[in-house]
Amino acid sequence: MPAEVEKDIHACLQCGYCNFVCPIQLNPDRGFESWRVRGKMYHLKRYAHPGTFDRLMRRRPEITPEFVERVYNCTACGYCQHVCHANIKFNDRWEQVKEWFVTNGAGPLDRHKALRTRVIAKHNPYDEPHESRDAWIPKTAKRSRNPEILYFTGCTASYRQQKIAQDATRVLDAAGVDYDILGKDEWCCGSPLIRTGQTDIVRDEVDGLVKHNLNEIEKRGARTVVTACAGCFMTLSHNYPLYAGKPDFKLLHLTQFIDKLVADKKLKLKKPLPKKVAYHDPCHIGRHFGIFEEPRRILKSFPKSSYIEMKHNRYDSQCCGAGGGYKIQFNDRAEYIASLRVLEAKELGAEMLVSACPFCVTNLTGGAKVAGVKMEVAELVSLVAESVS
Ligand code: SF4
Ligand code: SF4
Repeated sequence: MPAEVEKDIHACLQCGYCNFVCPIQLNPDRGFESWRVRGKMYHLKRYAHPGTFDRLMRRRPEITPEFVERVYNCTACGYCQHVCHANIKFNDRWEQVKEWFVTNGAGPLDRHKALRTRVIAKHNPYDEPHESRDAWIPKTAKRSRNPEILYFTGCTASYRQQKIAQDATRVLDAAGVDYDILGKDEWCCGSPLIRTGQTDIVRDEVDGLVKHNLNEIEKRGARTVVTACAGCFMTLSHNYPLYAGKPDFKLLHLTQFIDKLVADKKLKLKKPLPKKVAYHDPCHIGRHFGIFEEPRRILKSFPKSSYIEMKHNRYDSQCCGAGGGYKIQFNDRAEYIASLRVLEAKELGAEMLVSACPFCVTNLTGGAKVAGVKMEVAELVSLVAESVS
C-alpha cells in the first residue's frame, strides 16, 4: 500500500462528514457504507491492519474485485477532500490507491484498459485517427509563429466538441491575442489515465505524454498556456509538476484569460446572453483550484445579464458525474448524475446551463436527455464568441 495512503487510513476519524457529499451516492443503489468514502477507508485500514477478531479468526479483508469497483466509483470531484475533518488529501490518495491496484493487477476496470491502448496507438482516448486531431482548426484562425499564448485544446474539444475549440479561436482572434495551437503536435494530456491509475505511459521519461507535450510546448516558446478543458487544466497544473517539476510557462484556464481580457477592455461583450443562464462549476477548476469568480464575472459582463446562481455552487457545487474515468466505465450512471444537475437548473427557472469544460458540457447534454427536460447546454466560451462577433 502506498505510504501516504497507509498514513491516512489512520488519520480517518470515521466521523462520516464525507458520507453525504459524494455524487456516487446519488445513484439510489449506491448508498450503502461500502460505497462511501468512510467505508472504503475502513476497508483499507482493516486490510492493512486486521482487527483482533480478524486475527483470532485467522482471516483478513481482501482487495476483492467488488472493493476495486467501489474505489473506481469516483468522479474525482474533490468533495470528500473538501469536507474531510482529518484533512486527508483525497485528490491524490484515490489516484495512488488506483495506481497501486494497477501495479498489482487488481485494476483498472475493463473500459479503462481500452483507454491505455488507444492513447498509445492514437494519442487520444476516443480511438480517433491522430491525423485528424487538427481538423477542427478554422482556416481563418490568426495563428502566430512566435506566440505569447499557446491554446492547449485537449482531446474532447479536438474530436467531440470541435465548435468549442473553434469558438475559443474566435475569441482569441477578436481580442487580437498572439497565439498558436499545437494541432497534431498535441497528445492526450493523460488525465483519463492518471485518474484511473494508469500512469506508466503518462510519466515515461523517454516518450511519455508529459515529456512529449512539455517538449512541444517548449518548442513553441509561449510563456502562457491556456486551456478550456477543466481536466487538462488540472492535469497540466497539478500532475505535470509532480512528474516533471515546475514548468517554465504560466497556465491559465480560458475563463481566467477571458476574464482578464474583459477587465483590460481588450474584449467587449456586445450581445446579451441568449437565455436565462445558470452556471455549472466544473469540479476540476472549481473545487480543486478555486476558479469560481472568473466565469461568473464573465457572465455578469454580458449586457443585461440574465445570469442566475445555482443552489449548489462554488465549493458546494454538485458534480456533473463525468470525471475520474466514471463516465467512460459507467456512462448511464454518469448521465443520471448529470440529469439531477440539469433538473436543479430547471427548477431555478434556467433555460440554459453553461459550463466551462467540454467534458462537463458533453455529460450535461446527455443528462438533459435523461432528465427529459428542455435545457440547452453550452460552453461559456461559445457564448462569449457569439457576443463578441
Ligand atoms: S472525489 Fe468525489 S466522487 Fe470521488 S470519492 Fe470523493 S466525493 Fe466521491
Ligand atoms: S470526513 Fe474524513 S475523517 Fe471523517 S470519515 Fe470521512 S474520510 Fe474519515
